[in-house]
Amino acid sequence: MHRWSQLFIPTLREAPADAEVASHKYLIRAGYIRQLAAGLYSYLFLGQRAILRITAIVREEMNRIGQEFYLPALHPREVWEASGRWSVMGDNMFRLKDRGGRDLCLGMTHEEIMTEIARKELRSYKQLPQIWYQIQSKFRDEPRPKSGLIRVRQFTMKDSYSFDIDAAGLDVSYQKHYETYRRIFDRCGLKYAVVEAHSGAMGGSQSHEFMVMSDAGEDMVASCSKCGYAANLEKATSQLAPAEDLPGDGKPEEVHTPGMKTIEEVAKFLGVSPTQKIKTLAYMQVEADPKAPGGKKTRPVIVLLRGDHSLNEAKLTTVLGGKEFRPMQADEIERVFRSPAGYLGPVKLPASSGGGDIGSHTQKLLLDSLPLLFADTALKGRKNLITGANKENYHLRNVTPGRDFYPTEWIDLRNASAEEGCPNCGHPLEVGKAMEIGHIFKLGYKYSKSMGATVLDKDGKEVAPIMGSYGIGIERILTSAIEQNNDQDGFWLSRSIAPFDVVITPTNVNEGSLLQTAEHIARQLEGIGLSVLLDDRDERPGVKFKDADLVGIPFRINVGKKVTEGKVEVVTRSTRQSQDANIPEIEGHFRQLTQS
Ligand SMILES: [Zn+2]
Repeated sequence: MHRWSQLFIPTLREAPADAEVASHKYLIRAGYIRQLAAGLYSYLFLGQRAILRITAIVREEMNRIGQEFYLPALHPREVWEASGRWSVMGDNMFRLKDRGGRDLCLGMTHEEIMTEIARKELRSYKQLPQIWYQIQSKFRDEPRPKSGLIRVRQFTMKDSYSFDIDAAGLDVSYQKHYETYRRIFDRCGLKYAVVEAHSGAMGGSQSHEFMVMSDAGEDMVASCSKCGYAANLEKATSQLAPAEDLPGDGKPEEVHTPGMKTIEEVAKFLGVSPTQKIKTLAYMQVEADPKAPGGKKTRPVIVLLRGDHSLNEAKLTTVLGGKEFRPMQADEIERVFRSPAGYLGPVKLPASSGGGDIGSHTQKLLLDSLPLLFADTALKGRKNLITGANKENYHLRNVTPGRDFYPTEWIDLRNASAEEGCPNCGHPLEVGKAMEIGHIFKLGYKYSKSMGATVLDKDGKEVAPIMGSYGIGIERILTSAIEQNNDQDGFWLSRSIAPFDVVITPTNVNEGSLLQTAEHIARQLEGIGLSVLLDDRDERPGVKFKDADLVGIPFRINVGKKVTEGKVEVVTRSTRQSQDANIPEIEGHFRQLTQS
């Protein structure tokens, strides 16, 4: 058994002033971690024990599907140049030079290194499939480290990589990871959702994120409690309640709206609902172009949304094929719309439209200088809408999409929001912040092709293996468990990842019989496989109870006055329920408690 009096568990009454989220406060207060510098933490005894228990679960489950490697954290520049990511990673990558002046970096991820091994070693389809994984430190030059272990510059990842001969093989490797990840997170006692993820500029690949709903998270997730639908807001859709159109069948006509620029002002002034308005957003797509002045080529991008909706910028990025965009500046608005901001609209606006053919696709466009006009699907089929007239102090009414203007493309661009219907079953969606704990991703041929990895297929032809990459943030499991399970006094972890299963607290160690009874119980519980922390410190009971509540251990046994009746008190930290247990029956009592 471990005796608290001999251990280093530096608990604190106060959290650091900059700690905002629960896991940051409690990891420091419970003596799990200490900060070395911004985004760099030392894991002390309790913290490292919890991390080791987490990695043991991850390792055990991963060993069922893959083989453990251990790769260098220090990488030569050449291997990152081969994939083209030496420059792509930008300031996020820690770079250094060796004594010979050669460039090196600290690994943020290991696609390149694993592909390098595959490139040199794999020769035949007969060697596939392969799943290789490691548990290793990663480095990231995070611009704003914060929230304790949530956003850091050094962290631990389980990362794995699959190599298959074809897409069907990749499906199998992907599914294996999907199921393994579920077992890992279930065993760690986390409540999580598996969400369809935005696949970024890579485009088209399948990707799932494992997310813990938590206000400490930085992602937004829409989920349905009825059918289990969940998606990152960058990808989430929804069913909308039908919106009522204004009556009439006239042509667009100007209405005077003096000084009214916002959707709400105009809607209120005209006595209509924001759902009967078109919101017009003006952006500039920016592309590198050596021939253009300043090395950059711009193109107007106009987005139309229903008045009460908001743009999801990640969706627009996808529509633009990953190209960057920024809001139009005042002079650009004047040039494109011939109107000041606040009165913008799509009617009579020159735009790429394919001649009014609704559903025409951007790819078909011949002219690449006209503005792109994207209309959100929520506007499709609507009529008699209100929109800006491209004229100061005027709006238009009776505007009907497909008659009065022609979008370049109809496409889902809005943020799904809470209370809208689930796209699968119609049940109201919930939208909340979430923290990513794992990510699985079909890479395709990106690395095998760029780095020249090939194997011979059945017909003796050289082909690139198809790859997947799969990550778990080890510290994220700990932080999200704390975010999910805390109160004003501390937190509790599930037994599987807690540093100890039980803390035994004799209320007064100077009473010999109390300490002896506590030691006796500790030995008994260790006999049935529990890990025990004996709080043998000569401290007041109040101090010891406070510490026990703080440090994340799921069960506590108070050994106090009731010993004379042959009883101790067993407290379950999560519920704070306490029960008396007969000392001779303590084993059976814990067998029951730890089974449920
Ligand atoms: Zn649903």
